[in-house]
Amino acid sequence: MTSADLETILARHGAIEDDPHAATSPPLYQTATFGQSRADGFDAFDYTRTDNPTRAALESLLADLEGAPHALTYASGMAAIASVLRLARPGERVLCGRDLYGGTQRFLHRYLEGVEAEHVDLARSEDGRCPALEAALAEGGARLVLVETPSNPRLDVTCLRSVCRSAHAAGALVVVDGTAATPWLQRPLEHGVDVVLHSATKGLSGHGDVTAGIVATRDAALFTELAARRNAEGNALAPFEAWLLLRGVRTLGVRVERAQETALEIARWLESREGVTAVHYPGLASHPGHAVHASQADGAGVLVSFRAESAERARRACEDTRRFTTAVSFGGVASSISIPHHMSHASVPPGAAPPPEPELVRLSIGLESAADLIADLDAALGPPSDRSPEAETLSAATVSLHA
Ligand code: PLP
Repeated sequence: MTSADLETILARHGAIEDDPHAATSPPLYQTATFGQSRADGFDAFDYTRTDNPTRAALESLLADLEGAPHALTYASGMAAIASVLRLARPGERVLCGRDLYGGTQRFLHRYLEGVEAEHVDLARSEDGRCPALEAALAEGGARLVLVETPSNPRLDVTCLRSVCRSAHAAGALVVVDGTAATPWLQRPLEHGVDVVLHSATKGLSGHGDVTAGIVATRDAALFTELAARRNAEGNALAPFEAWLLLRGVRTLGVRVERAQETALEIARWLESREGVTAVHYPGLASHPGHAVHASQADGAGVLVSFRAESAERARRACEDTRRFTTAVSFGGVASSISIPHHMSHASVPPGAAPPPEPELVRLSIGLESAADLIADLDAALGPPSDRSPEAETLSAATVSLHA
């Protein structure tokens, strides 16, 4: 699909079919139930837990964006992930990469009962296969392989075609969490992936006012199974959230294009900044996954992470910025900064992949001026502030209940 197609989809798709008033903005059907024309069957919509016109309009737009016939939306990214991971039955295994959102790891290791979750090296070899993954698959019982690319927070890149080749040969499904890239930049189904999912709370909505998740697949049987489970479990996206997401997603392309220009500028600047020991951004030629990412995505995105020379310096950088909000989540119009070790990954349970180090800082770049953001970061990374180091350290007990 060309980017012109995507632009048109974002601007024009997602209308409510057969709208008698031809509303130019899809109406919000804020209703739990729909009157039926007969008592011995159902009309197109009967109950919002099952289906709702506003949500259906959103889902058709998202499916078009992903190049899929089907998409489902959920109350959050985690609701989407949990539904897909629960396709693995007790006794089966889930294989996944070594860098994954902390909440996904919490679900995999604490709540996916009876299923063994293992982190493996997804690096590809010269022949376009993934040797460590193939070795793990050879042990048998793997239902699915879960990949985040680029990953949160280290922005590791995984070759989707290589993972698909190895996983499909062993009969495992490939599921990609594409949250960091959004479908504007990367459409994993085009590379042979079975299921793509996102936290739409991030770049897809773009305004930090919705929690939502999406799943898209070309596999009709998988779609039917996931839709039936969503109806049974009642974790679909509510109509108002669907309406907000439908509005927010319209500007996805212009937001991502603008913000990733700034992200590249900041990543390049950080590479030469004293006090920064490593910069992770797939748009940098120095990133080990630069070429692979360029072969499967149309841009490097809005997330940049870097290592400060000490945990204390990382903490101060977060607390001393004035233009970045210290917050979990990312992909909004306003830039944010976080230390994943203390925040988004604080809930990583023992036995999961090694958590991000406390020196790692993650930036989500928004729509502010690049010059302002760089000047602000420069000041924050500069001379130590006089804030006491103990002041706002979050206790592990507190953060474990958070994002
Ligand atoms: N996937 C990734 C990569 C994330 O970063 C997050 C949240 O930060 C999620 C999934 C979970 O999404 P949500 O917070 O919408 O449940």
